[in-house]
Amino acid sequence: MARLGTETAFEVLVRARALEAQGRNVVHLEIGEPDFDTPAHITEAAIEALRGGATHYGPSAGIPELREAVAQDSTRRRGVRATPEMVVVTPGAKPIMFFVILALVDEGDEVLYPNPGFPIYESMIRYIGGIPVPVRLLEEKAFTLDVGQLCDRVGPKTRLIILNYPHNPTGGVIPESGLRAIAEVAAKYHVPVLSDEIYSRILYDSEHKSIAAMPGMESLAIVLDGFSKTYAMTGWRLGYGIMPAPMAQVVAKLQTNATSCTATFSQLAAVQALRGDQSSVDAMVTEFRRRRDAIVTGLRAIPGFSCARPKGAFYVFPNIARTGYGAKALADKLLDQGGVACLSGTAFGEFGEGHLRFSYANSMENIEEALRRIKTVVGG
Ligand code: PMP
Repeated sequence: MARLGTETAFEVLVRARALEAQGRNVVHLEIGEPDFDTPAHITEAAIEALRGGATHYGPSAGIPELREAVAQDSTRRRGVRATPEMVVVTPGAKPIMFFVILALVDEGDEVLYPNPGFPIYESMIRYIGGIPVPVRLLEEKAFTLDVGQLCDRVGPKTRLIILNYPHNPTGGVIPESGLRAIAEVAAKYHVPVLSDEIYSRILYDSEHKSIAAMPGMESLAIVLDGFSKTYAMTGWRLGYGIMPAPMAQVVAKLQTNATSCTATFSQLAAVQALRGDQSSVDAMVTEFRRRRDAIVTGLRAIPGFSCARPKGAFYVFPNIARTGYGAKALADKLLDQGGVACLSGTAFGEFGEGHLRFSYANSMENIEEALRRIKTVVGG
């Protein structure tokens, strides 16, 4: 158990709430969830499903209607031929990470993963006894994954490659040429790729391309996606994986052992999310773009800060090295002294040092207030 890591966002949230309980005012830029409500037609579908009696166990891999809807959505958006047998629906997308690493990685196996990156990748690799091999994301390369670096690290002991684009915490993406090159090396060594595409609908300047659509990936790509971010449904716990059908059977069996199945009424609502009106997604992305531009401009005006403009997701990852503070020290100070909750870059791995992560899934008013407070704390 000592090898298991955690997601610091939840810890900072608890600390921030404790300060609020003492009467302090805190601007929350720590947790990664849209501040919007779930679109009404999706909530209505869940209520209708409950009234209709969808209150029983369902199949472990997910209800057939939703597996079909996910397969169709992925075929359309990713340009891959996905079938319902390739889909496993899970309570949130996180269990896909957990189950896939559990299924594929044995002790001593190497797993490549982005660093800085979502902390659960490294946590799970270590927990299983695998060897985490970080692929460092560099600010000077706009936080896109350095494909040359990744290819150099792939070898006979590599059991899995984990990718995440658009990326948490940097907002970086991987261009199609990079995905192609990664697919080539993955196919050469026959290494599966877990492609975390949970932010694939939150992109500002480009269309999403999936590694699953690259040549040679039919038997190797495992796509992770879900409803939490796209449809503002974090608390519903709804996600899925798309993978070769034999692997889907294994993952479904893990789910039988762990949770039995995902809640049936929420799966029926998820069908509506995929099949219904998508205008809420477009409106949310338009609003996020406005906030991204405001927070990037604001952070660049703070002494000692520099900030790359993210291409997707709803996070900024400014460089704070010139403030003279370490990342964790500054994150703590911003919360304790300034009433701004954010995360230290080191919450995303050792190569996050020198950076903070702010989620801009908050109102423009709160973002502007946070910028004023940060400026006061760092003495601008
Ligand atoms: N992958 C990444 C990169 C994430 O940032 C998150 C959520 N913060 C997840 C997966 C998990 O999403 P879910 O809430 O659907 O489990």
